[in-house]
Amino acid sequence: MLGTDAGHPHHWKKKMARRRQIYEGKAKILYEGPEPGTLVQYFKDDATAFNNKKKGVIAGKGVINNRISEYLMTRLSEIGVPTHFVRRLNMREQLVREVEIIPVEVVVRNIVAGSLAVRLGMNEGTPLPRSIVEYYYKSDALNDPMITEEHITAFGWATPQELDDIMSMALRVNDFLSGLFLGVGIRLVDFKLEFGRLWEDDQMRIVLADEISPDSCRLWDMKTNEKMDKDRFRRDLGNVEEAYQEVARRLGILPESGPRDIKGPAVMQ
Ligand code: UDP
Repeated sequence: MLGTDAGHPHHWKKKMARRRQIYEGKAKILYEGPEPGTLVQYFKDDATAFNNKKKGVIAGKGVINNRISEYLMTRLSEIGVPTHFVRRLNMREQLVREVEIIPVEVVVRNIVAGSLAVRLGMNEGTPLPRSIVEYYYKSDALNDPMITEEHITAFGWATPQELDDIMSMALRVNDFLSGLFLGVGIRLVDFKLEFGRLWEDDQMRIVLADEISPDSCRLWDMKTNEKMDKDRFRRDLGNVEEAYQEVARRLGILPESGPRDIKGPAVMQ
């Protein structure tokens, strides 16, 4: 993203030059990894909303999202959800398996919020009678239109078998993460997942990819209903970085006094 150096400190630039950039997204950059079949996922401080119409920088977001996503992906793999995550490399980077991204955003909802509230004229905060899974076609040009299983299989974006796997994994992730966040006083309102295809000894399987962070989840404090996610940026609520930090702190992945205490991986793990 031009026009901002946030998340690209000087020492970083030399390092970056050594690796081939594969892709640059709104909040992350993918570089060629150290071994074939791997990529390095770099987390930027850049934030966008409303399909790129609102742009900004959330200081330190990349560092926190790298940690939060590492933590959640690791916990998920421990219960048997396959993910692309391999290991965190440093403050802003993680090593991931290279996958073929399925061009569908999978949204799981537990409570009415965001586009669902707008589209169906419902009040934000209304609990849903059961979790709802929605699909959106990944296309900035088309503004990520909502689609159904029919579109996904008819256009070959995923096979019916793959879609089955995706749906059951998404619901498993939802149950697990809902409980995990509940344990630290946070309600998991909704979130977005992305999946990819991974070839492993002649076998193809679906794994969880991208990231799971306050950029891709709605997280509300259980007691106060305060928003602890990207809606603070989208809706100019202020204290965005503090909210992200508080999520990390509650998950136990930041020291009590905040990110300034981070001296390196050794003190954190
Ligand atoms: N979401 C996302 N990326 C997107 C669209 C949505 O990470 O491109 C997340 C969003 O943060 C929220 C959930 O998916 O946790 C549902 O978003 P919604 O459909 O309500 O859209 P929004 O109101 O964010 O435009």
